[in-house]
Amino acid sequence: MDALDILTNLEYIVPFFQPIFSADEHRIIGYEILGRIQTESGYESLGPFFLDETIPEEYRLEVDNVVLKKALERAAELEDDVLLFINRDAELLMMDDGEQLLDILRDFERIGITLDRLVLEITERNFTGDYEHLCHLFNYYRTYGIKVAIDKLGEDSSQLDQIGQISPNILKINLMALRSMHSTTAFQDILFSISILARKIGAMLLFENIETGYQLQFAWKHGGRYYQGYYLHRPDIDFINRDILKSKLKSEFHQFIMYEKKKLEALFSITDRFQKRIQELLMKNKNVEHYEELLFNLAKEMNHIAFRMYICDEDGFQLSPNILKKDDMWMIQKEYTQKNWSWRPYFLENIFKMKSEKKGILSDLYCDIESGETIRTFSYPLNTKEYLFIDITYEFLYEHEELLY
Ligand code: CA
Repeated sequence: MDALDILTNLEYIVPFFQPIFSADEHRIIGYEILGRIQTESGYESLGPFFLDETIPEEYRLEVDNVVLKKALERAAELEDDVLLFINRDAELLMMDDGEQLLDILRDFERIGITLDRLVLEITERNFTGDYEHLCHLFNYYRTYGIKVAIDKLGEDSSQLDQIGQISPNILKINLMALRSMHSTTAFQDILFSISILARKIGAMLLFENIETGYQLQFAWKHGGRYYQGYYLHRPDIDFINRDILKSKLKSEFHQFIMYEKKKLEALFSITDRFQKRIQELLMKNKNVEHYEELLFNLAKEMNHIAFRMYICDEDGFQLSPNILKKDDMWMIQKEYTQKNWSWRPYFLENIFKMKSEKKGILSDLYCDIESGETIRTFSYPLNTKEYLFIDITYEFLYEHEELLY
């Protein structure tokens, strides 16, 4: 259907509603409003029309508002805590400083759609205007109780600082990006930055385009509070029973929780094994005085596990050289003595933890700067002043699958 057909058939425009489910109640907390038009061959999405920049802005805005008004009329039949997610392009919104939208929304207060039930889903990817101006507008909207969500996140993390400035209530992460990305790792890195930002500004994560059970699990695991996608429910012309997925989600979440607990158990038990092994080895070497000799003795026993070891003091200054496995031979790297590692993330926290709990710590997975490999480090308090660090090889992690997640 071309643009002119749409503009001359506004009476055939129909709002569709895609439900959004919450993690904490397993029920529908709101709907995203989507534009469709009724044609002879069924309902057609208005998405391409809205994205077509060759169509004059005022026409797109007009159609957008027709969808919105029809949707809000229908929404009168909803319970009064159900949220409505409204799509808006930042560029179009700023054309009249968001006045027209606010007029429409306030007009619907009369039929019980209070403004605090509305969430504006903003696409700001192509926004070229003044960011500060945009922030002002959102702050103004917020004085009415209107919430702001940033739409379609996940493809890159370049604009996160600007997004932080807007301080939205919700960040919508598009799982479609997971598919188009070269690797899951790249997506996870972006997601990690997004979730740190969300935590900092107190925003909630909504994952959209969830199409498989695995993606739902992924969203759950990555701090998603809200979910949306075909796997849960397609957009529909009608509203649906809020508890339609209550028991299904409950049982799926139960699976996620069991799986995660099993992994944590495995991690704890392997940490415990490390702990006992190191204790044994240190006992055996308790009369060894020199760091190098101690490290060599440990290396001999942990040849298939470790590729690098060293000892630091509690401020992160390296007391020993590195002992490093290269081509299956252990060698000494003297130049590392006296280097300081206190600047590393979590370093001092971990020293404190080891000191107070008198126990070793297995780190999370991270990329080793020098080898470029994914590794973990087991650190262990020799006493209150000396701390042993053992970098574990990727091969060992690979053999113990539970260590790779
Ligand atoms: Ca949207």
